[in-house]
Amino acid sequence: MSVYPFPPRRYRLAFGVLFLLFLLWLVGLAEARQPDARPSPAPDLLPAAELPADAALDLSVLRAAYPGAVLGMARGASGMLELVMADGARLAYDDGKPRTPAEAEERPDVRTMLAQVYPLGPVDEASARPAPHFSPGRHRVQAFFLSLYGKSEAEARKNCRSVRFDGHGALMQGRYGAADALERVWKRLEPQMAAHPEWAKTLRPFGGAFCWRSIAATDRLSAHSFGVAVDLNSHLPYWLGMRNPEKVPAQVLAFPREIVAAFEAEGFIWGGKWAEFDLMHFEYRPELILKAKALRGEITLPR
Ligand SMILES: [Zn+2]
Repeated sequence: MSVYPFPPRRYRLAFGVLFLLFLLWLVGLAEARQPDARPSPAPDLLPAAELPADAALDLSVLRAAYPGAVLGMARGASGMLELVMADGARLAYDDGKPRTPAEAEERPDVRTMLAQVYPLGPVDEASARPAPHFSPGRHRVQAFFLSLYGKSEAEARKNCRSVRFDGHGALMQGRYGAADALERVWKRLEPQMAAHPEWAKTLRPFGGAFCWRSIAATDRLSAHSFGVAVDLNSHLPYWLGMRNPEKVPAQVLAFPREIVAAFEAEGFIWGGKWAEFDLMHFEYRPELILKAKALRGEITLPR
């Protein structure tokens, strides 16, 4: 007679079943602890048909530019429109506040951020002299970029990757396409380099890409903080402290058109078109390029 309470074979079977149940329990526990990657859509999202036309257009350009990042618009507690982000952030779309140019720069709502239409295409005599404070793309809602790209230097850097650009590794944002777009800009420019030796003084020395830093003389984060901007030759004119700003329109007009066209074709805006000019600076802002095209009737965006 065996000394075991039941034969060893049945013992092994029972142990196996128990072990399997234990594993299933562990898997269930792990799943229960997993935080929801995507918060459920806000229940109060407004149908596009209920939005004012300008808000509906802004929503459609943001959705097309940053797929999946923007859920829609809703009314906030005060009744004002808010942009609802996929990560749960709710940003004032139109807070109804009148703004001075300085306030539009420092504390824009989303509507203000997108209000100035970027002058897409070759610069002419008129667009080389923008009206005071006409700097489309410079009014940035910081919370929007933090929501898209990362809430800290470490988080924004984690999403960056190195892109080959004129012999450099430019650290650019991997989320929502900036890195891929810069790669394509260089693919457009590289075959033309041999025919344009004069481009060297525009492109070099390369100023850099990702850099977590504030805009000069402000406490607002630069677009470089999110890896969505590149600086070409860092000696190119910058509006702050410029000694002879009256000479800048000629430099804007003389700037290689093919370089500007290559960047714009891939979703970048150029700081050379700003009243607060920044000729070295190109910034990935596909929403502004799309809005300019939509208003010209060149594209139709899904609502
Ligand atoms: Zn820059």
